[in-house]
Amino acid sequence: MAEGAPRHYKEAMVREILVWPHPVLKQKAHPVTAVDDSTRALIKDLFDSMYAADGVGLAAPQIGVLKNVIVLDTTPRQPEAKPLAMVNPEILTYEGKIEYKEGCLSIPGEAEDVDRAAVITVRFLDEQGVEQTLKCEGLLAIAVQHETDHLKGTMFVDHISTLKRELIRKRMKKLQAAQEADKKEAAAEAKKKRSGAGAEAR
Ligand code: ZN
Repeated sequence: MAEGAPRHYKEAMVREILVWPHPVLKQKAHPVTAVDDSTRALIKDLFDSMYAADGVGLAAPQIGVLKNVIVLDTTPRQPEAKPLAMVNPEILTYEGKIEYKEGCLSIPGEAEDVDRAAVITVRFLDEQGVEQTLKCEGLLAIAVQHETDHLKGTMFVDHISTLKRELIRKRMKKLQAAQEADKKEAAAEAKKKRSGAGAEAR
């Protein structure tokens, strides 16, 4: 947060997005029993994290929270943008078929064709806890299916061939190893700087 910012200034809460095959991404999320301030805080974190990562959808398990909450915005930063938060989403109907090259914020840099229903109806609770039913088509229908999959511990790579999935798994392991090495290096740098600055009070 910038120094001198007004006290009421609320910093965006961008959370770390877990990278597949992180074990939490394979777990089933739990229903939200009451939509309260903690749910709304989670929704805000999800939006902040999704926009920061240039995504069009994000599910709570991707930031390590095993709750049935997803956020979507298939037209971010456009005048017609319509951010959608869904608590306990449940897809009621599936119609038609559409193939789309999907990506995922938990599988950075990868995209593969996935078959989805072209039109769906989803029932959910909104941020106020009011039940809504929404018919979705196009990218929104795809995104809702992709994000609700996350709540069941399913990734888009679970819909593609084993061969493709294993290649992606290898690339993700490499990416994670590189990220770990970067983190260690940054920590070592910081330590060096601290010791270089002399023995300061802790
Ligand atoms: Zn995803």
